[in-house]
Amino acid sequence: MSKQIICCNAFILRVINHSETSQIIHFFTDRFGHISAIAKGSRRPKSKFLGYLEQLNEVEIVVYYKEQGLSILTEISLITSHLALFKTFSKSVIINAAVEVYLQLLFSDEEVKKFYLLLKNFLEYLHKVEKNEILILWRFLLRITYYLGFPLHISSCVMCGTRDISILSGVSFLNNGIICQNCEKNIKVNHYNEIYSEKVTYHCSKEALAILSTLKNISEKINNLNMSKQTIREITAIFKIHFSNHLHKDFHLNSLKLFY
Ligand SMILES: [Zn+2]
Repeated sequence: MSKQIICCNAFILRVINHSETSQIIHFFTDRFGHISAIAKGSRRPKSKFLGYLEQLNEVEIVVYYKEQGLSILTEISLITSHLALFKTFSKSVIINAAVEVYLQLLFSDEEVKKFYLLLKNFLEYLHKVEKNEILILWRFLLRITYYLGFPLHISSCVMCGTRDISILSGVSFLNNGIICQNCEKNIKVNHYNEIYSEKVTYHCSKEALAILSTLKNISEKINNLNMSKQTIREITAIFKIHFSNHLHKDFHLNSLKLFY
């Protein structure tokens, strides 16, 4: 596929003004993953793109696709608008974090479809929650760890399987999961790990461990949960370290700094 006309469904991840009249749109498509395309004339008052180029709109697009450089957007129609989510500031922060995550990931052709559905479900679920939206983001991140082949095991101690919250002590990044105080003593730490000791085990509060260990089934209690800022920071830090370790780069969630 070097140059061709393609038609696919897409989420608009980012819209950047390119010139007085045009914008560059970063799409996440259901068939080709990331595509950047120029929307020529989209800033003109009578543009055919007017009203469609809103962040996280799900759209059907026709693009003149170029493998090298910018593709050209030729047609667009709306499937679903998620503009309503942006009316709640805390939800808009979470959406921007999800966009930030996708912009940092590269997907193989086989993976694109499931990541597209994951984003779609994430947005639909976000409409339903009344508070604690960040839990939806963490669950989204957790799914991504499974999809990308570096699952974070958080239901119980990754070594002995205990769910006894009184002895769970933190997350072991050497073992990719929650660890208890007994098993922690048995982790073999070599010289390399000692140098990077902060990445070996991340000790966190019981509140953070309780939330992590039930994150997969959090939907029933999401609207009734009260979390401290400390817990929110701890759990977010755990995901950031885990992603950074496995993607071999500094994985960031800067969007969250606005609110959390
Ligand atoms: Zn254990």
